[in-house]
Amino acid sequence: YLRLDKIPHIWCPGCGHGIILNSLIRGIHEVGLKQENTVIVSGIGCSSRAPGYLNFNTLHTTHGRALAFATGVKHSNPDLNVIVLTGDGDSAAIGGNHLIHAARRNINITTIVFNNNIYGMTSGQYSPMTPTDAIATTSPYGNVEKSFDLCNMVKSAGATFVGRGATFNTKQLIQLVSGALSHNGFSFVEALSQCPTYYGRRNNLKSAIDMLKWQKDNSVSVKAYDKLPEEKKEGKIVLGELFRDDSIPEYTDRYAEMVKNVQKRS
Ligand code: SF4
Repeated sequence: YLRLDKIPHIWCPGCGHGIILNSLIRGIHEVGLKQENTVIVSGIGCSSRAPGYLNFNTLHTTHGRALAFATGVKHSNPDLNVIVLTGDGDSAAIGGNHLIHAARRNINITTIVFNNNIYGMTSGQYSPMTPTDAIATTSPYGNVEKSFDLCNMVKSAGATFVGRGATFNTKQLIQLVSGALSHNGFSFVEALSQCPTYYGRRNNLKSAIDMLKWQKDNSVSVKAYDKLPEEKKEGKIVLGELFRDDSIPEYTDRYAEMVKNVQKRS
């Protein structure tokens, strides 16, 4: 599935994005998607370079607009498997509106957010996913804003598969990607990634390995979280399949049904 023999990647040493890309390939393999029937769409940012390294039909679009392009692709040919690869800045800031409405429509697109808590490509400005107090190029004394819980946001908007994984646990990440790819509806996976070059260095998180350890120490599985006493839940990052509903009709199915009914009447 890879074409790195022809195109060398430009991700920094220790970057988590390659781990997410690897998990995506394994998920695609597990579910058995065909290359000729799969389109992978991205916006702009370090994460959005991922489709360029894959031997699939790919679209590298404009900043924040991957879901708008992907919606057009899916709407014009519902038989295609459509996957969006995006970053936290690309999806939660400039592309936030498209994310909300793709979730609301429950269109059968799988979206994977590479969440490194920062704008990496443009040298480390804070994003809507940067934690409060974290240091970024544009918050040298600490970020005063509160970050989004993107999983909760898309669930509230209407997504019917929502999961959160992390690069320290590839087994779980592959399971989440497979679950999302096999779901008929808007499926969303937030994948925590490490950016040692900007987020890690500015926040004294040391090496990429230390950042993976940080992920592990600060996260908990959704099952274990439910059993925790309230006072221990604060600040924990919850990982796993957070929500799934297979009973809600998918957008392109409903659209086709509507067209059929109109044709019958005329
Ligand atoms: Fe990865 Fe950060 Fe380098 Fe971008 S800047 S490639 S996110 S380590």
